[in-house]
Amino acid sequence: MPVRKYTYYDFTLSLCPECLRRVDAKIVFENDKVYMLKRCPEHGTSKVLIADDVEYYKNIRNYNKPSETPYTFNTKTHYGCPYDCGLCPDHEQHSCLTVLEVTDRCNLTCPTCYAGSSPHYGRHRTLDEVKKMLDTIVKNEKEPDVVQISGGEPTIHPQFFEILDYAKSLPIRHLMLNTNGIKIAKDKDFVARLKSYTPDFEIYLQFDSFKEEVLQQMRGAKLTEIRKQAIANLNEVNLSTTLVVTLQKGQNDDEIGQIIEYALQQKCVRGVTFQPTQIAGRLENFNPETDRLTLTEVRRKILEQAPVFNGDDLIPVPCNPDALVMGYALKLDGEVFPLTRYVNPADLLDNSKNTIVYEQDEQLHGKMIELFSTGNSVEVAEENLKSIMCCLPNIDAPNLGYDNLFRIIIMQFIDAYNFDVRAIKKSCVHIVDKDYKIIPFETMNLFYRDDKKKRLEELKKESV
Ligand code: SF4
Ligand code: SF4
Ligand SMILES: [Zn+2]
Repeated sequence: MPVRKYTYYDFTLSLCPECLRRVDAKIVFENDKVYMLKRCPEHGTSKVLIADDVEYYKNIRNYNKPSETPYTFNTKTHYGCPYDCGLCPDHEQHSCLTVLEVTDRCNLTCPTCYAGSSPHYGRHRTLDEVKKMLDTIVKNEKEPDVVQISGGEPTIHPQFFEILDYAKSLPIRHLMLNTNGIKIAKDKDFVARLKSYTPDFEIYLQFDSFKEEVLQQMRGAKLTEIRKQAIANLNEVNLSTTLVVTLQKGQNDDEIGQIIEYALQQKCVRGVTFQPTQIAGRLENFNPETDRLTLTEVRRKILEQAPVFNGDDLIPVPCNPDALVMGYALKLDGEVFPLTRYVNPADLLDNSKNTIVYEQDEQLHGKMIELFSTGNSVEVAEENLKSIMCCLPNIDAPNLGYDNLFRIIIMQFIDAYNFDVRAIKKSCVHIVDKDYKIIPFETMNLFYRDDKKKRLEELKKESV
Protein backbone atom coordinates (compact mmCIF):
# COMPACT_ATOMS: atom_id res chain seq x y z
CA MET A 1 0.00 0.00 0.00
CA PRO A 2 1.41 3.47 -0.81
CA VAL A 3 2.76 5.33 2.22
CA ARG A 4 3.36 9.06 2.54
CA LYS A 5 6.96 10.15 2.97
CA TYR A 6 5.96 12.29 5.96
CA THR A 7 4.00 11.80 9.18
CA TYR A 8 0.90 13.96 9.42
CA TYR A 9 0.80 15.70 12.80
CA ASP A 10 -1.66 18.58 12.81
CA PHE A 11 -3.87 20.92 10.83
CA THR A 12 -4.11 24.69 11.12
CA LEU A 13 -4.76 27.88 9.18
CA SER A 14 -1.86 29.81 7.72
CA LEU A 15 -1.32 32.53 5.11
CA CYS A 16 -0.25 32.42 1.50
CA PRO A 17 3.12 34.21 1.60
CA GLU A 18 2.32 35.89 -1.72
CA CYS A 19 -1.23 37.19 -1.35
CA LEU A 20 -1.67 36.82 2.45
CA ARG A 21 -4.92 34.89 1.96
CA ARG A 22 -5.87 32.61 4.82
CA VAL A 23 -5.19 29.06 3.65
CA ASP A 24 -5.39 25.54 5.09
CA ALA A 25 -2.11 24.16 6.37
CA LYS A 26 -0.87 20.77 7.46
CA ILE A 27 1.95 20.30 9.94
CA VAL A 28 4.05 17.27 9.00
CA PHE A 29 7.25 15.58 10.16
CA GLU A 30 9.73 14.59 7.49
CA ASN A 31 13.40 13.61 7.92
CA ASP A 32 13.37 14.77 11.58
CA LYS A 33 12.14 18.22 10.61
CA VAL A 34 8.78 19.95 10.95
CA TYR A 35 7.21 21.46 7.85
CA MET A 36 4.06 23.33 7.04
CA LEU A 37 2.34 22.37 3.78
CA LYS A 38 -0.13 24.83 2.31
CA ARG A 39 -2.07 25.54 -0.81
CA CYS A 40 -3.36 28.85 -2.09
CA PRO A 41 -6.03 28.59 -4.82
CA GLU A 42 -4.18 31.31 -6.74
CA HIS A 43 -0.50 30.74 -5.90
CA GLY A 44 -0.33 27.01 -5.53
CA THR A 45 1.39 24.84 -2.96
CA SER A 46 4.25 25.75 -0.66
CA LYS A 47 6.34 23.93 1.91
CA VAL A 48 7.93 25.82 4.82
CA LEU A 49 10.46 24.59 7.37
CA ILE A 50 9.09 25.58 10.79
CA ALA A 51 11.33 23.61 13.17
CA ASP A 52 14.32 21.35 12.88
CA ASP A 53 13.75 19.52 16.15
CA VAL A 54 10.64 17.32 16.18
CA GLU A 55 10.89 16.43 19.88
CA TYR A 56 11.13 20.06 20.99
CA TYR A 57 8.28 21.04 18.67
CA LYS A 58 6.03 18.35 20.11
CA ASN A 59 7.06 19.31 23.63
CA ILE A 60 5.86 22.90 23.10
CA ARG A 61 2.30 21.57 23.33
CA ASN A 62 3.02 20.46 26.89
CA TYR A 63 3.65 24.04 27.95
CA ASN A 64 0.14 25.37 27.59
CA LYS A 65 -1.64 26.75 30.59
CA PRO A 66 -4.93 28.65 30.98
CA SER A 67 -4.62 32.00 29.21
CA GLU A 68 -4.55 35.28 31.08
CA THR A 69 -6.69 37.84 29.30
CA PRO A 70 -6.74 41.65 29.40
CA TYR A 71 -9.42 43.53 31.36
CA THR A 72 -10.97 44.94 28.18
CA PHE A 73 -10.89 44.03 24.52
CA ASN A 74 -10.71 46.74 21.89
CA THR A 75 -12.43 45.08 18.90
CA LYS A 76 -15.13 42.50 18.14
CA THR A 77 -14.43 39.05 16.77
CA HIS A 78 -16.14 39.21 13.39
CA TYR A 79 -14.04 38.40 10.29
CA GLY A 80 -11.99 35.70 12.00
CA CYS A 81 -8.35 35.58 13.02
CA PRO A 82 -6.13 37.45 12.08
CA TYR A 83 -8.49 40.10 10.65
CA ASP A 84 -9.99 41.30 13.94
CA CYS A 85 -7.00 42.64 15.88
CA GLY A 86 -7.32 43.72 18.46
CA LEU A 87 -7.17 42.51 20.88
CA CYS A 88 -10.43 40.80 20.02
CA PRO A 89 -12.11 38.57 22.62
CA ASP A 90 -10.86 35.48 20.79
CA HIS A 91 -7.24 36.26 21.69
CA GLU A 92 -5.71 33.83 24.18
CA GLN A 93 -3.07 35.85 26.02
CA HIS A 94 -2.82 39.30 27.56
CA SER A 95 0.04 41.68 26.73
CA CYS A 96 3.13 40.38 28.54
CA LEU A 97 4.96 43.17 26.75
CA THR A 98 3.43 46.13 24.95
CA VAL A 99 5.48 48.07 22.43
CA LEU A 100 4.83 51.78 22.09
CA GLU A 101 6.20 53.31 18.91
CA VAL A 102 6.67 56.96 19.79
CA THR A 103 8.09 57.89 16.40
CA ASP A 104 8.43 56.56 12.85
CA ARG A 105 11.78 58.26 12.50
CA CYS A 106 15.22 56.86 13.10
CA ASN A 107 18.84 57.96 12.87
CA LEU A 108 19.57 54.73 10.97
CA THR A 109 18.03 53.24 7.83
CA CYS A 110 18.37 49.50 8.38
CA PRO A 111 17.58 47.54 5.23
CA THR A 112 15.70 45.04 7.41
CA CYS A 113 13.56 47.47 9.42
CA TYR A 114 10.01 46.13 9.68
CA ALA A 115 8.71 49.63 10.42
CA GLY A 116 10.47 51.15 7.39
CA SER A 117 12.03 53.82 9.62
CA SER A 118 14.56 56.39 8.42
CA PRO A 119 15.54 59.99 9.25
CA HIS A 120 12.70 61.51 7.24
CA TYR A 121 10.05 58.79 7.23
CA GLY A 122 6.69 59.54 8.84
CA ARG A 123 6.58 61.67 11.96
CA HIS A 124 6.95 61.78 15.72
CA ARG A 125 3.78 61.02 17.65
CA THR A 126 2.69 64.05 19.66
CA LEU A 127 2.97 63.92 23.42
CA ASP A 128 -0.82 63.83 23.65
CA GLU A 129 -1.01 60.88 21.30
CA VAL A 130 1.67 59.05 23.26
CA LYS A 131 -0.16 59.70 26.52
CA LYS A 132 -3.39 58.34 25.06
CA MET A 133 -1.55 55.25 23.82
CA LEU A 134 -0.09 54.70 27.28
CA ASP A 135 -3.52 55.18 28.83
CA THR A 136 -4.88 52.52 26.46
CA ILE A 137 -2.30 50.03 27.67
CA VAL A 138 -3.16 50.77 31.30
CA LYS A 139 -6.89 50.50 30.58
CA ASN A 140 -6.37 47.04 29.08
CA GLU A 141 -3.88 45.69 31.58
CA LYS A 142 -4.43 47.76 34.78
CA GLU A 143 -0.84 47.12 35.87
CA PRO A 144 1.02 46.32 32.64
CA ASP A 145 3.96 43.94 33.14
CA VAL A 146 6.31 45.54 30.62
CA VAL A 147 5.94 48.54 28.36
CA GLN A 148 8.66 49.05 25.80
CA ILE A 149 9.26 52.56 24.47
CA SER A 150 10.24 51.99 20.87
CA GLY A 151 10.19 53.53 17.40
CA GLY A 152 11.78 54.21 15.01
CA GLU A 153 14.43 55.40 17.40
CA PRO A 154 12.68 56.73 20.51
CA THR A 155 15.67 58.69 21.82
CA ILE A 156 15.37 61.19 18.94
CA HIS A 157 11.84 62.16 19.93
CA PRO A 158 11.96 65.84 20.96
CA GLN A 159 9.83 65.14 24.05
CA PHE A 160 11.53 61.89 24.93
CA PHE A 161 11.96 62.60 28.65
CA GLU A 162 8.41 63.92 28.99
CA ILE A 163 7.25 60.58 27.60
CA LEU A 164 9.34 58.70 30.17
CA ASP A 165 8.03 60.96 32.96
CA TYR A 166 4.44 60.25 32.01
CA ALA A 167 5.07 56.51 31.66
CA LYS A 168 6.71 56.48 35.08
CA SER A 169 3.65 58.16 36.61
CA LEU A 170 1.46 55.20 35.55
CA PRO A 171 1.17 51.82 37.30
CA ILE A 172 3.51 50.13 34.82
CA ARG A 173 5.64 47.48 36.48
CA HIS A 174 8.63 47.72 34.16
CA LEU A 175 9.63 50.16 31.51
CA MET A 176 12.03 49.30 28.71
CA LEU A 177 13.78 51.50 26.21
CA ASN A 178 14.36 49.85 22.83
CA THR A 179 17.27 51.65 21.18
CA ASN A 180 20.04 51.34 18.63
CA GLY A 181 22.39 52.90 21.18
CA ILE A 182 23.70 55.80 19.11
CA LYS A 183 22.54 58.47 21.54
CA ILE A 184 23.72 56.37 24.50
CA ALA A 185 27.17 56.07 22.95
CA LYS A 186 27.49 59.76 22.22
CA ASP A 187 26.03 61.49 25.25
CA LYS A 188 27.00 60.56 28.81
CA ASP A 189 24.70 63.16 30.35
CA PHE A 190 21.84 61.51 28.51
CA VAL A 191 22.83 58.15 30.03
CA ALA A 192 23.03 59.65 33.52
CA ARG A 193 19.53 61.01 33.07
CA LEU A 194 18.29 57.61 31.90
CA LYS A 195 19.71 56.08 35.06
CA SER A 196 17.46 58.36 37.12
CA TYR A 197 14.47 56.33 35.88
CA THR A 198 15.65 53.17 37.65
CA PRO A 199 14.57 50.92 39.27
CA ASP A 200 12.13 49.11 36.98
CA PHE A 201 13.72 50.65 33.94
CA GLU A 202 15.96 48.78 31.54
CA ILE A 203 17.64 49.18 28.17
CA TYR A 204 16.93 46.88 25.26
CA LEU A 205 20.01 47.47 23.14
CA GLN A 206 20.39 46.50 19.50
CA PHE A 207 23.54 44.36 19.31
CA ASP A 208 23.87 42.11 16.28
CA SER A 209 27.48 41.38 15.57
CA PHE A 210 31.13 42.11 16.27
CA LYS A 211 31.85 42.29 12.54
CA GLU A 212 31.75 45.62 10.77
CA GLU A 213 30.76 44.09 7.43
CA VAL A 214 27.81 42.24 9.00
CA LEU A 215 26.61 45.43 10.71
CA GLN A 216 26.96 47.25 7.43
CA GLN A 217 24.78 44.60 5.76
CA MET A 218 22.15 44.49 8.49
CA ARG A 219 22.09 48.10 9.63
CA GLY A 220 23.54 50.01 6.71
CA ALA A 221 26.15 51.70 8.94
CA LYS A 222 29.48 51.21 10.67
CA LEU A 223 28.49 50.60 14.27
CA THR A 224 31.19 48.57 16.02
CA GLU A 225 32.66 51.53 17.89
CA ILE A 226 29.21 52.91 18.72
CA ARG A 227 28.25 49.57 20.29
CA LYS A 228 31.40 49.42 22.40
CA GLN A 229 30.97 52.98 23.61
CA ALA A 230 27.29 52.46 24.41
CA ILE A 231 28.12 49.43 26.58
CA ALA A 232 30.98 51.32 28.27
CA ASN A 233 28.63 54.19 29.14
CA LEU A 234 25.95 51.83 30.42
CA ASN A 235 28.51 49.90 32.47
CA GLU A 236 29.65 53.14 34.05
CA VAL A 237 26.24 53.79 35.58
CA ASN A 238 25.32 50.08 35.77
CA LEU A 239 22.04 50.53 33.96
CA SER A 240 20.31 47.15 33.35
CA THR A 241 20.67 46.19 29.71
CA THR A 242 19.52 43.34 27.52
CA LEU A 243 21.42 42.81 24.28
CA VAL A 244 19.03 42.21 21.40
CA VAL A 245 20.51 40.19 18.59
CA THR A 246 18.69 40.01 15.28
CA LEU A 247 19.90 36.73 13.82
CA GLN A 248 20.18 36.12 10.12
CA LYS A 249 21.20 32.82 8.67
CA GLY A 250 24.72 32.92 7.25
CA GLN A 251 25.35 36.43 8.63
CA ASN A 252 25.78 36.32 12.39
CA ASP A 253 24.46 32.94 13.53
CA ASP A 254 28.06 31.82 14.10
CA GLU A 255 28.58 34.61 16.68
CA ILE A 256 25.98 33.43 19.22
CA GLY A 257 28.51 31.90 21.62
CA GLN A 258 30.83 34.88 21.38
CA ILE A 259 28.02 37.33 22.09
CA ILE A 260 26.88 35.35 25.17
CA GLU A 261 30.46 35.23 26.42
CA TYR A 262 30.88 38.98 25.91
CA ALA A 263 27.52 39.70 27.56
CA LEU A 264 28.50 37.72 30.64
CA GLN A 265 31.53 39.94 31.13
CA GLN A 266 29.61 43.22 31.06
CA LYS A 267 28.46 44.54 34.39
CA CYS A 268 25.32 46.20 33.01
CA VAL A 269 24.20 43.31 30.81
CA ARG A 270 21.51 41.11 32.33
CA GLY A 271 20.82 38.96 29.32
CA VAL A 272 20.69 38.38 25.60
CA THR A 273 17.58 38.11 23.45
CA PHE A 274 17.97 36.39 20.11
CA GLN A 275 15.44 37.18 17.41
CA PRO A 276 15.74 35.10 14.24
CA THR A 277 14.53 37.02 11.20
CA GLN A 278 14.12 36.02 7.62
CA ILE A 279 15.57 38.01 4.80
CA ALA A 280 13.17 36.65 2.24
CA GLY A 281 12.57 39.98 0.61
CA ARG A 282 16.20 40.67 -0.13
CA LEU A 283 17.50 37.22 -0.88
CA GLU A 284 17.29 36.02 -4.42
CA ASN A 285 16.07 32.44 -4.70
CA PHE A 286 15.01 32.38 -1.03
CA ASN A 287 13.67 28.91 -0.38
CA PRO A 288 11.36 28.69 2.65
CA GLU A 289 11.82 24.94 2.67
CA THR A 290 15.54 25.17 3.45
CA ASP A 291 16.62 28.76 4.11
CA ARG A 292 14.62 29.66 7.20
CA LEU A 293 16.32 30.19 10.55
CA THR A 294 13.91 28.60 13.01
CA LEU A 295 13.64 28.92 16.77
CA THR A 296 14.79 25.33 17.31
CA GLU A 297 17.86 25.94 15.15
CA VAL A 298 18.80 28.98 17.21
CA ARG A 299 18.32 26.95 20.38
CA ARG A 300 20.58 24.22 19.03
CA LYS A 301 23.22 26.76 18.04
CA ILE A 302 23.19 28.24 21.57
CA LEU A 303 23.71 24.76 23.01
CA GLU A 304 26.57 24.14 20.55
CA GLN A 305 28.26 27.51 20.91
CA ALA A 306 27.71 28.05 24.66
CA PRO A 307 28.24 24.55 26.05
CA VAL A 308 27.64 25.64 29.66
CA PHE A 309 23.93 25.37 28.85
CA ASN A 310 22.23 22.05 28.24
CA GLY A 311 18.82 21.16 26.79
CA ASP A 312 17.12 21.48 30.19
CA ASP A 313 18.30 25.09 30.51
CA LEU A 314 16.45 26.45 27.49
CA ILE A 315 12.75 25.68 27.73
CA PRO A 316 9.46 27.02 26.29
CA VAL A 317 7.83 29.90 28.18
CA PRO A 318 4.24 28.94 29.05
CA CYS A 319 2.67 32.32 28.22
CA ASN A 320 3.59 31.86 24.55
CA PRO A 321 5.47 28.59 24.13
CA ASP A 322 5.58 28.59 20.33
CA ALA A 323 7.46 31.89 20.22
CA LEU A 324 9.57 32.04 23.37
CA VAL A 325 12.44 30.01 24.78
CA MET A 326 13.97 31.11 28.04
CA GLY A 327 16.78 30.17 30.37
CA TYR A 328 18.09 31.75 33.57
CA ALA A 329 21.63 31.59 34.90
CA LEU A 330 23.73 33.14 37.63
CA LYS A 331 26.90 34.95 36.71
CA LEU A 332 29.62 34.99 39.30
CA ASP A 333 33.02 36.46 38.45
CA GLY A 334 32.66 35.52 34.81
CA GLU A 335 31.47 32.01 35.64
CA VAL A 336 27.97 30.87 34.74
CA PHE A 337 25.63 28.65 36.72
CA PRO A 338 22.51 27.69 34.76
CA LEU A 339 19.38 27.68 36.92
CA THR A 340 16.58 26.46 34.68
CA ARG A 341 17.61 22.82 34.92
CA TYR A 342 16.47 22.86 38.57
CA VAL A 343 12.88 23.44 37.56
CA ASN A 344 10.57 20.57 36.85
CA PRO A 345 8.94 21.85 33.63
CA ALA A 346 5.58 20.30 34.39
CA ASP A 347 5.34 22.36 37.55
CA LEU A 348 5.59 25.62 35.63
CA LEU A 349 2.17 24.87 34.26
CA ASP A 350 0.24 23.94 37.30
CA ASN A 351 0.44 26.18 40.31
CA SER A 352 -2.03 24.06 42.21
CA LYS A 353 0.23 21.06 42.07
CA ASN A 354 2.64 21.10 44.93
CA THR A 355 5.32 18.79 43.63
CA ILE A 356 8.68 19.56 45.08
CA VAL A 357 11.23 20.03 42.40
CA TYR A 358 14.49 20.08 44.05
CA GLU A 359 14.66 17.59 46.88
CA GLN A 360 12.86 19.29 49.74
CA ASP A 361 13.26 22.71 48.27
CA GLU A 362 9.72 23.89 48.02
CA GLN A 363 10.72 27.50 48.25
CA LEU A 364 13.09 27.39 45.29
CA HIS A 365 10.41 25.65 43.30
CA GLY A 366 7.85 28.38 43.93
CA LYS A 367 10.29 31.14 43.18
CA MET A 368 11.41 29.60 39.91
CA ILE A 369 7.79 29.38 38.82
CA GLU A 370 7.42 33.08 39.52
CA LEU A 371 10.53 33.76 37.45
CA PHE A 372 8.97 32.04 34.50
CA SER A 373 5.50 33.45 34.95
CA THR A 374 6.16 36.29 32.56
CA GLY A 375 8.38 36.15 29.57
CA ASN A 376 9.65 39.58 29.07
CA SER A 377 11.49 41.44 31.79
CA VAL A 378 14.55 40.28 33.61
CA GLU A 379 13.73 42.83 36.30
CA VAL A 380 10.53 40.97 37.11
CA ALA A 381 12.87 38.47 38.65
CA GLU A 382 14.37 40.98 41.02
CA GLU A 383 11.96 40.61 43.92
CA ASN A 384 12.33 36.85 43.91
CA LEU A 385 16.02 36.72 43.51
CA LYS A 386 17.21 36.93 47.09
CA SER A 387 15.06 34.03 48.17
CA ILE A 388 16.19 31.98 45.22
CA MET A 389 19.77 32.53 46.22
CA CYS A 390 19.30 31.18 49.70
CA CYS A 391 17.57 28.10 48.31
CA LEU A 392 20.30 27.19 45.89
CA PRO A 393 22.52 24.31 46.77
CA ASN A 394 26.29 24.64 46.85
CA ILE A 395 26.51 28.32 46.15
CA ASP A 396 28.12 30.17 48.94
CA ALA A 397 27.95 33.82 47.97
CA PRO A 398 26.00 35.89 50.46
CA ASN A 399 26.35 39.13 48.50
CA LEU A 400 24.57 37.94 45.41
CA GLY A 401 22.22 40.46 43.90
CA TYR A 402 20.22 41.23 40.87
CA ASP A 403 23.46 42.05 39.02
CA ASN A 404 24.25 38.36 39.08
CA LEU A 405 21.14 37.28 37.23
CA PHE A 406 21.50 36.51 33.55
CA ARG A 407 18.84 35.50 31.10
CA ILE A 408 18.77 34.10 27.60
CA ILE A 409 15.67 34.42 25.45
CA ILE A 410 14.88 33.32 21.95
CA MET A 411 11.92 35.20 20.53
CA GLN A 412 10.64 34.08 17.19
CA PHE A 413 8.12 36.28 15.49
CA ILE A 414 5.58 34.69 13.21
CA ASP A 415 5.63 35.84 9.57
CA ALA A 416 3.54 34.97 6.52
CA TYR A 417 5.56 31.79 5.96
CA ASN A 418 5.19 30.15 9.37
CA PHE A 419 1.92 31.83 10.35
CA ASP A 420 -0.13 29.44 12.45
CA VAL A 421 -3.48 30.66 13.68
CA ARG A 422 -3.21 28.38 16.71
CA ALA A 423 0.02 30.08 17.78
CA ILE A 424 -0.88 33.66 16.86
CA LYS A 425 -3.74 33.61 19.33
CA LYS A 426 -1.15 33.12 22.09
CA SER A 427 1.00 36.02 20.92
CA CYS A 428 1.96 38.04 24.00
CA VAL A 429 4.12 40.79 22.50
CA HIS A 430 1.75 43.48 21.34
CA ILE A 431 1.83 46.98 19.89
CA VAL A 432 -0.47 49.79 20.86
CA ASP A 433 -1.27 51.37 17.51
CA LYS A 434 -2.19 54.90 16.67
CA ASP A 435 -5.90 54.06 16.61
CA TYR A 436 -5.53 53.05 20.27
CA LYS A 437 -5.90 49.34 19.67
CA ILE A 438 -3.64 46.57 20.90
CA ILE A 439 -2.30 44.56 17.97
CA PRO A 440 -0.09 41.46 18.19
CA PHE A 441 3.38 42.43 17.01
CA GLU A 442 3.28 39.91 14.18
CA THR A 443 -0.13 40.75 12.74
CA MET A 444 0.80 44.44 13.00
CA ASN A 445 3.66 43.89 10.60
CA LEU A 446 1.59 41.69 8.30
CA PHE A 447 -1.67 43.61 8.12
CA TYR A 448 -2.03 46.67 10.30
CA ARG A 449 0.70 49.08 9.22
CA ASP A 450 -0.53 51.88 6.95
CA ASP A 451 0.87 50.36 3.77
CA LYS A 452 -0.73 46.97 4.57
CA LYS A 453 -4.21 48.07 5.47
CA LYS A 454 -5.56 48.14 1.91
CA ARG A 455 -4.82 44.46 1.48
CA LEU A 456 -6.42 43.75 4.85
CA GLU A 457 -9.66 45.41 3.76
CA GLU A 458 -9.74 43.27 0.58
CA LEU A 459 -9.14 40.12 2.58
CA LYS A 460 -11.85 41.02 5.07
CA LYS A 461 -14.36 41.42 2.23
CA GLU A 462 -13.36 38.07 0.78
CA SER A 463 -13.77 36.36 4.14
CA VAL A 464 -17.51 37.06 4.55
S1 SF4 B 1 -4.59 37.60 16.46
FE1 SF4 B 1 -5.73 37.73 18.35
S2 SF4 B 1 -6.62 39.79 18.35
FE2 SF4 B 1 -5.98 39.33 16.26
S3 SF4 B 1 -7.81 38.49 15.31
FE3 SF4 B 1 -6.60 36.77 16.08
S4 SF4 B 1 -7.46 36.35 18.09
FE4 SF4 B 1 -8.17 38.40 17.51
S1 SF4 C 1 17.50 51.09 14.23
FE1 SF4 C 1 15.59 50.01 14.50
S2 SF4 C 1 13.98 51.50 14.02
FE2 SF4 C 1 15.91 52.32 13.23
S3 SF4 C 1 15.91 51.70 11.08
FE3 SF4 C 1 17.05 50.15 12.27
S4 SF4 C 1 15.52 48.57 12.76
FE4 SF4 C 1 14.40 50.41 12.12
ZN1 LIG D 1 -1.92 33.30 -2.59
